[in-house]
Amino acid sequence: MPDKSTSSETATPAATETAQAPSAARKIYPIVKYGDTILEKPGAPIKKFDAEVEQLAEDMFASMYAAQGVGLAAPQIGKSLRIAVVDVTGGKNPEAKIVLANPEIIHAEGEVREEEGCLSVPGFRGYVMRPQFVTVKAQNAKGESFEIRGENLLARAFCHEIDHLNGILFLQHLSMLKRDLIKRKIKKLRKQGEW
Ligand SMILES: [Zn+2]
Repeated sequence: MPDKSTSSETATPAATETAQAPSAARKIYPIVKYGDTILEKPGAPIKKFDAEVEQLAEDMFASMYAAQGVGLAAPQIGKSLRIAVVDVTGGKNPEAKIVLANPEIIHAEGEVREEEGCLSVPGFRGYVMRPQFVTVKAQNAKGESFEIRGENLLARAFCHEIDHLNGILFLQHLSMLKRDLIKRKIKKLRKQGEW
């Protein structure tokens, strides 16, 4: 796990330079930005695990790598579903690819305050307190249940992505002052047609 990257969704340049090129067959989705209401509503559980879900997960990995992220949740590509993908190696290690369908945090321990960013809130970062360790219960893209424990950046990524599936953005964990400052800047960018 690269400890030089402290963001849950934005990989370091070093990590992304060696990221795998997405396969030609994969669909690269544009990332939904802050302001779209889909980011603020809970996703629907995945009930049927078929080839479509597996394809969606692979397309989400491809979209995440293309955006140089280390985590991506379905609402961020405009799909209100409880599925997210995480790879804190930025595509360097195929075994680090984690699909979280219908995930739940079943255990959390410790606290770490670190800077966090989000692909849906590009250009803005803020310090967020997250558990140091979390255990997540989820299903993979085939519907098989598993439990996974994450520490530090991985724990942060799990929490950040599961928040997305519940309609929560990292902005909601910031101080009101910091949050309002970012919201004002985004409003200004939107007026200028840059958001
Ligand atoms: Zn995010």
